[in-house]
Amino acid sequence: MRIILLGPPGAGKGTQAKTITGELGIPHISTGDILRKAIEEKTPLGLKAKEYMDKGHLVPDDLMIDLIKERIKKKDCEKGFLLDGFPRTIPQAQALEELSPIDKVIKIKIENDVAIERLSGRRTCKRCGAMYHVIYIPPRKEGICDRCGEELIIRDDDREEAILKRLEVYRKETRPLIEYYRKKGLLAIIDGGRRKEEVTRDLLVSIK
Ligand code: AMP
Repeated sequence: MRIILLGPPGAGKGTQAKTITGELGIPHISTGDILRKAIEEKTPLGLKAKEYMDKGHLVPDDLMIDLIKERIKKKDCEKGFLLDGFPRTIPQAQALEELSPIDKVIKIKIENDVAIERLSGRRTCKRCGAMYHVIYIPPRKEGICDRCGEELIIRDDDREEAILKRLEVYRKETRPLIEYYRKKGLLAIIDGGRRKEEVTRDLLVSIK
């Protein structure tokens, strides 16, 4: 099964992707996570990507297409994969089509104000990437990751100015993909404004 998860920042794509890929036995490919790791390791890709990401801009298509091309060639993708954060533009979707067939595209829908509230309260573990929310998913000890004990931080792109920019970029660049995949008969839409478990259940029903 080759699946794409679409939706604005804050829709819960990453959280849902982690849960459902565990059930489906396919890798979760988050381009955002790959880029953040590249930044931490100060690789050439990381150094280039950082300036775009910190401002909430998209990393250029050619870099992203090369990255995905290499990733989905790997052996663990033989039985399928779930893409979270790719494609984000029409040229990326067109390039992906040349690389691999896609079985299903699922959009997780949420309102703008819910996205802003979720992103601005988000805290991320510096070491393991676990995510929390100051109100909805607080860690047991304030500012500390339950899983690994590392400090929680606010991602640079979860600061207010970058959040607004990311939502604007989503509307302009990524939303046209919904029509693109609808026309291909691949699209399902799920309401992401509900409890996490309800969203997971609907995702699994729509995939199986
Ligand atoms: P995410 O974790 O998916 O919200 O991604 C964080 C940031 O990484 C985005 O705001 C972009 O700057 C960059 N990024 C991730 N995936 C892509 C992509 N497919 N195309 C361009 N930029 C991307």
